[in-house]
Amino acid sequence: MSKLLTVLESVKLSEEYLRKKGVQEPRANAELLLADILHCKRLDLYLMFDRPLSENEIKKYREYLSRRANFEPLQYILGKVEFYGMSFKVTKDVLIPRPETELLVGEIITSAKTINDKVKILDVGTGSGNIAIALQKNLKNAEVCGADVSAKALEVARENARLNSVGVEFKQADVFDENIFELGKFDLIVSNPPYVAKEKIDSLQEEIKNYEPIIAVTDNADGYSFFRRIADISLKILNPNGMLFFEISEGQEHEVENILNERGFKNIKTIKDFNGLARIIKGELG
Ligand code: GLN
Repeated sequence: MSKLLTVLESVKLSEEYLRKKGVQEPRANAELLLADILHCKRLDLYLMFDRPLSENEIKKYREYLSRRANFEPLQYILGKVEFYGMSFKVTKDVLIPRPETELLVGEIITSAKTINDKVKILDVGTGSGNIAIALQKNLKNAEVCGADVSAKALEVARENARLNSVGVEFKQADVFDENIFELGKFDLIVSNPPYVAKEKIDSLQEEIKNYEPIIAVTDNADGYSFFRRIADISLKILNPNGMLFFEISEGQEHEVENILNERGFKNIKTIKDFNGLARIIKGELG
């Protein structure tokens, strides 16, 4: 029988394989996939670099690597992702939470902490529930509701609330349907809506285009239809002095500022991300 590959040898071979296939950050991907198989942290691999892999471990590693080489996102292969210091389950039914969205959560926490009374928060298009759960976990005075059109996404969100020991109410609702008004009234509405314009779908990364739920990515129109509709709804379901927070994509700030302006929102503020790009827009009702 031939000698089995060690941790270090298999990581090196896998890095090369992923690099040739055009996967970004091949070393990190190779290490994270193997760490998951060996139930250890990425850095722990270096404490066992000469440990031989079993045949089963190699078989599983091969399967993971071929999925990644087909551009399946790492997070779907691992079935989880870190967000705001918590672990979230992810499946192909939910958008993968992004680090930029942590900034949105941080801004809302800062704003909501200044309010002494109870704050009712609605997360529109909650997906995996990452925003809603992170807010509920960090705001003692909040009562958070997460809404999504997808029943399958809501199953994942409910499981994430259980896994993180957080009580969030998740409800099925379509923002373009009248049933959205049955959710009640809120002091703060947040959304990271599908904002990619139809014409930009083709230029998205393979990982997004071929694997993430398309309804979570694009509005199949000009990229602004959810911003307009959610701003419209907010005029009706936000309490006086209520706040609206959006995550936006690069270059959308002027149009989204206009959308809020036209509807009478005040104190409109745009916040940049770590790359210096406008990422978050907030507005307030008088
Ligand atoms: N609320 C989730 C997030 O921000 C999902 C958003 C979406 O599906 N567009 O990651």
